[in-house]
Amino acid sequence: MNAFTTRKDGDTLRCVLCGRQYDALARSCASCDGALLRMSYARRRFQPMQRTGIFKYLHWLPSRRGIETEIGPVVYQSEGLAGFLGLRRLYIGINGYCPERGAFNITGTFKDFEALPTLLYLQEHGVTRVILASAGNTGRAFAYAARMLGFRLDIIVPEAMAHKLWLPVKPAEAVRLTVVADSRDYSKAIELCGLAAREFGIPDEGGARNVARRDGMGTAMLEYARIVGALPDHYFQAVGSGTGAIAAWEASLRLIADGRFGDRLPRLHLAQNAPFTPIHDAWTNGKKIHPRRNIREQLARIARIKADVLANRNPPFSVAGGVRDALEATNGLTYSVTNREASAACKLFERTECFTPSAAASVAVAALVQAVRAGRIGRDDAVFLHVTGGGLDRLRKDYHIHRLQPGLRVPVARVTARSVSRLGGWFAS
Ligand SMILES: *Cc1c(COP(=O)(O)O)cnc(C)c1O
Repeated sequence: MNAFTTRKDGDTLRCVLCGRQYDALARSCASCDGALLRMSYARRRFQPMQRTGIFKYLHWLPSRRGIETEIGPVVYQSEGLAGFLGLRRLYIGINGYCPERGAFNITGTFKDFEALPTLLYLQEHGVTRVILASAGNTGRAFAYAARMLGFRLDIIVPEAMAHKLWLPVKPAEAVRLTVVADSRDYSKAIELCGLAAREFGIPDEGGARNVARRDGMGTAMLEYARIVGALPDHYFQAVGSGTGAIAAWEASLRLIADGRFGDRLPRLHLAQNAPFTPIHDAWTNGKKIHPRRNIREQLARIARIKADVLANRNPPFSVAGGVRDALEATNGLTYSVTNREASAACKLFERTECFTPSAAASVAVAALVQAVRAGRIGRDDAVFLHVTGGGLDRLRKDYHIHRLQPGLRVPVARVTARSVSRLGGWFAS
């Protein structure tokens, strides 16, 4: 593993509202109602390093150390889809597995951009183990990164989703899978994760509140700026938590502060999969999101969407620095995309760009189609379409796939503080 470092002396972690400075592992502002924290990088000038992969942007990632890796953002100018839609300046960020384009996200999605920077950052601050609940893309990305960096990682998933956890390499012993038996309900996995974290003092990775995750995702926008030399007018992405959207906004702010990339924030176009569209609904109706209201109905809707990675009931929407602020700052728009529109968009993308986007990425493609049809995009506008994942069939051909085998099975009824306290043999060892 080829590692390198850069000086980080003047970098600080600050509240987006009051500017108060925090220690590296803080997750929200104590005085501003849980406002997000954001990295303030000493280096204002955008200066990618001569390195392969995501850590060419180490100056604007929170860790001091980076590693050379094939994992990194890829942006190219579209001809096929651009021609079909009548757009002159359509750029595609292809962040799944697509060797022809040089995209080597080895677990299939842009979650690979979150996992490595997060674990490196945690490692530098003395954390060497993490626990998370994930039904797929995040779990795979962290499992891969944990193996690479020698982390102890606990992943908790509902049993019915365990098959989504695989790696294109032999999994490490220190990456352990726990399943909640007889369960499809993701919230039970989250609950177990929280209980185990508390009982055994295992750090979690922080989700959208983790600046390494956001700045890792933000490298897609940095790559756009490196390739095109300016910010786009429009940014399209499918969102679940909206972390990627906040990240695109924050990266754009840094590029604007540099001075050479214009002074206009890209307009965020955020897409969700109907009939589960909490961010779209909240933005359209000017309301809050209520993760615990009508849970049964929410779960029924979630069961009907194809892009299940977008099913987040509790995105950081109203919190300061969150999705609503990102939409407000960029005069953003949201989209509701049906399964049918998404699969038509998937086929369109295959035909025009020779790549199979994942279900979630197809939702973003469909949103772009909607926007063009509605006349929201000018033919000469610079458009950045973020295809956040895909190429899994190709990945399966090129690599031997290893499934993570569950080491512990917890019955749903045992997801209680008392029962979990008896699982020290598994979690505390
Ligand atoms: C997680 C994910 C998204 C949504 O990203 P958020 O940051 O949670 O909004 C979109 N596409 C793919 C492929 C994903 O894995």
